[in-house]
Amino acid sequence: MKVSKHFFTEDFVPKIIQQQFGDKAIWFISPFMVNHAELLWTRFGKQVIINNWKDGGNLQNRGFRIPDTLVGGNLSQHKLKSAIDTNVVGITPEEVYNDIKINFGVYSKIGLTTVEDIAFTTGKVSNDLSGWNHADCRTTNINTLLIVKP
Ligand SMILES: [Zn+2]
Repeated sequence: MKVSKHFFTEDFVPKIIQQQFGDKAIWFISPFMVNHAELLWTRFGKQVIINNWKDGGNLQNRGFRIPDTLVGGNLSQHKLKSAIDTNVVGITPEEVYNDIKINFGVYSKIGLTTVEDIAFTTGKVSNDLSGWNHADCRTTNINTLLIVKP
């Protein structure tokens, strides 16, 4: 189901959630997830990829993750529908990372507080998507960008 100008529920939830909940899969998507994806699309003017399972790809845990998945951390922000992992087509993760660092004020307006250190998210995806950017909206007590090591 369409949830914004460029995105569908399938972009933000794994296949099992889409199959089980249909249009109600939107229950597992937060405004931050959609707004961050749309902000990246606007800033770079390029397609933004989160999950791609609906197009036959193997990515399905880059938005909401079910609690008992073995992917990622046990208490990952993805399980709290607070995080997305993205690729901007034609733009490197380093360029996106730098844009967020330099223009944190723009991203913080839609709730972004935290990114993962780029050193940990480069070149680990075993397909044509080389690296990614993790961003989340966890609550912090600082006014600057929090950079975490996963
Ligand atoms: Zn992530």
